Amino acid sequence: MIRLQGVDKFYKQGESSVQVLHDINLDISEGEFVAIMGQSGSGKSTLLNIIGFLDDQFSGTYFYKKLSVHNYTRSQFSKLRNSNVGFVFQNFKLINNLTVQENVSLPLLYAGAKRKDINKRVLEVLQQVGLKDSGKDLPTNLSGGQQQRVSIARAIIAQPNFLIADEPTGALDSKTSDEIMLLFKRLNQHNNTTIIMVTHDEKVGNQAKRLIRILDGRIISDKKVVLS
Ligand code: ADP
Ligand code: MG
Repeated sequence: MIRLQGVDKFYKQGESSVQVLHDINLDISEGEFVAIMGQSGSGKSTLLNIIGFLDDQFSGTYFYKKLSVHNYTRSQFSKLRNSNVGFVFQNFKLINNLTVQENVSLPLLYAGAKRKDINKRVLEVLQQVGLKDSGKDLPTNLSGGQQQRVSIARAIIAQPNFLIADEPTGALDSKTSDEIMLLFKRLNQHNNTTIIMVTHDEKVGNQAKRLIRILDGRIISDKKVVLS
């Protein structure tokens, strides 16, 4: 589904530019659950943003379902993003003056779905993440783990082709992290949701099915996780 070939990424710094990704070659199939690990500053978020169609400033080729994404215009790129990707971030990025159900319904509202269909889907996804009674709450009245569940519900409501998650457990204690990982595993196993996650927590990374390690912008290993 996802195929990056010879992808390089440079950031401009004044007159000069710094290379942060070097010759990334990566294939990800539908239904995979991939963790990308590496030290802070190694290029994980940069890579994830390219994969998730958030950043179109790279060289090399990106084929997505046979589409030559590297040739896409800005607007084609954002259309692709809106209709294919769900996002989960470390700091949840919820809108605090909207209720849980309003937050979760946003992607479908933007997509122009009907009110009745939206309400039905909101109930479904809140049930899936274990928050069916919290729809009327404000995010700030929920725990960190619950807020991350809300953001996962929002990420899956429009049935994206894949999820990207940048340090989804980075702001959570270890018990809550385990619960969030359990939810990701369930979505991957039962709904065949493709998940691509960045983490620097070994315990979290080892719960994925495939573990890619990156160092200084280069992939240094790419292995199936052997369940212990
Ligand atoms: P990670 O997610 O692994 O911590 P990042 O992908 O965020 O790493 O960053 C990789 C490198 O690129 C770092 O050295 C970082 O300082 C640099 N970088 C990230 N974003 C920018 C930017 N917008 N402009 C310039 N340099 C950046
Ligand atoms: Mg990062």
